[in-house]
Amino acid sequence: MKLTAIGTAGSFPGPYSAASCYLIETDEASPTRIVLDLGSGALSPLQRAVDTDSLSAIVLSHLHPDHCMDVTGLYVKHCYDPKFFNGNVSDTGTIRTRTSIYAPPGAQERLSRAYYTDPGKSPIADEGDHADLSHAFEFFDIDHGTSHQIGSLKVESFLVDHPVEAYALRITDANGSVITYSGDSDECDNLVEAARGADIFLCEAAFQEDRDTARGIHLTGKRAGRVAQAADVKSLVLTHIPSWTDCSIVRGEAAREYRGPIELAKPETSWTV
Ligand SMILES: [Zn+2]
Ligand SMILES: [Zn+2]
Repeated sequence: MKLTAIGTAGSFPGPYSAASCYLIETDEASPTRIVLDLGSGALSPLQRAVDTDSLSAIVLSHLHPDHCMDVTGLYVKHCYDPKFFNGNVSDTGTIRTRTSIYAPPGAQERLSRAYYTDPGKSPIADEGDHADLSHAFEFFDIDHGTSHQIGSLKVESFLVDHPVEAYALRITDANGSVITYSGDSDECDNLVEAARGADIFLCEAAFQEDRDTARGIHLTGKRAGRVAQAADVKSLVLTHIPSWTDCSIVRGEAAREYRGPIELAKPETSWTV
């Protein structure tokens, strides 16, 4: 499977990257394509990387805006792209194939609130829309320990340490290769379990030692390296570094804890396992 970084900026879009978004694709004749998070600004570069009509599913690690808010833009694209009105949408506005969104409970309500300003007045609402994004999306809850088979990929979720309900995501392909995405998390046992033996551990490192002292929110480079070492991952890709942070400092922290290869995630970079 191939991992492509779409948006890698931490907490908000940076000058050179959208917020969190990653694409995982298999190389089968009929590929499985999963988007991990669709944060603020990410729909733009995502469209350069993939036909969004071809996605198998979107999986959201948690419901902070930098991880989910561009779902509202994708809803507009799905509902109002003229090609959908020319044969792919029924007379009542129902889209024939909806994109599945796997997310923590409450995602549908939260994203609907973000999208609809006045549900009764939207064009689709006039045709019987339920004002819940269900024209374009079908929502499925994730929980700690859940495993969903999406095409040829298995997606497991692990509850991690963040101020809101948040999950690390472990993706296993048909060959047994593993990519783990931390989402947002401080150091915790579940994150180590999620990353255990992964071929690629795509791990946030939003904080910097000695500067960012709050706990239960994010990893520093040091703590990301420590998790990678404890999980015995084959490679570490650091991401979600805010624009105010010097990436080399965070990478240096990680390198003192983790003895394997370390890279910094950048948009439009891909890795294959
Ligand atoms: Zn975040
Ligand atoms: Zn967050």
